[in-house]
Amino acid sequence: MKKTGFPDNVRIIDVGPRDGFQNVKTFIETEDKLSIIEGLVKAGIAGIEVTSFVNPKAIPQMKDAAVVAAAVREKYPDLEAIALVPNLRGADNASKAGIKNVAYVVSASEAHNKANVNRTVDESLANLRELVIAHPELSVRVDVATAFGCPYSGITPPENVLRILKEAEELEITEITLCDTIGIANPAQTADLIELVKEKFPKMNITLHLHNTRGMALANMTAAVERGITRFETSIGGLGGCPFAPGSEGNAATEDAVYMFEQMGIRTGIDLDKLVDVVGYIMEHVDAPVTGKMYKVKNSSCMNMAGNI
Ligand code: ZN
Repeated sequence: MKKTGFPDNVRIIDVGPRDGFQNVKTFIETEDKLSIIEGLVKAGIAGIEVTSFVNPKAIPQMKDAAVVAAAVREKYPDLEAIALVPNLRGADNASKAGIKNVAYVVSASEAHNKANVNRTVDESLANLRELVIAHPELSVRVDVATAFGCPYSGITPPENVLRILKEAEELEITEITLCDTIGIANPAQTADLIELVKEKFPKMNITLHLHNTRGMALANMTAAVERGITRFETSIGGLGGCPFAPGSEGNAATEDAVYMFEQMGIRTGIDLDKLVDVVGYIMEHVDAPVTGKMYKVKNSSCMNMAGNI
């Protein structure tokens, strides 16, 4: 039963194989990564951030990026397979592996950009321009990291976000992702930033990427969907974390977001039971805690309470 004011459908992009895996210290075998991606595709997920073309010395977990990307592109030609790239070299490698969609990350905070990619925001934006010119075959989206807050400089002034989007607009980029990298946003702030971005850049397609560090991700997602946002990045099992808050949760769990939307009458096109099976596989093959709630619910007596009074 759909409530008025909410969209009919949302699109969920699973970033577990990138944002989730990159936080796992123990190497996940390439075939396990591919099995998890296969499970997600079979559950009906139409967009996946499949890997990250970063320096393997910095993030050894992503050393098989080219193999994963090529396998995914060959097996699922219709999947929106996205790879994260921090620089031009990453884009070169992604393109070589057959990737068509790349997410280029720039932080809205100077201090975080420096820590993350060792460049100033201006340098990152100049690099983005180079990348777009060098790779006309790639569809480039911009991930605005720390769009809501930064571990070093606190709450991010919205002007910082707008400045990055202005540059993206000049490069004719229409897909942008507002990332709550450290899970610090609240629903009011989320709503305010969305309204501002929609007002200033009405042609931009906005995706939201919310971490659950403070347990706010689903609340922020609700605030966003109420304001017409229909694209969300989530992570299967809630895999991931926040490098600035050791032991914290990762992104909003895909299975929890799917449950919430479907219960709200908002279609996701995703089979929750199949998703939960993927979570079970992760629990056996990935050395990281699952923080999503739906696995426990589906495997406990809570599930049988539906018909009871
Ligand atoms: Zn993230």
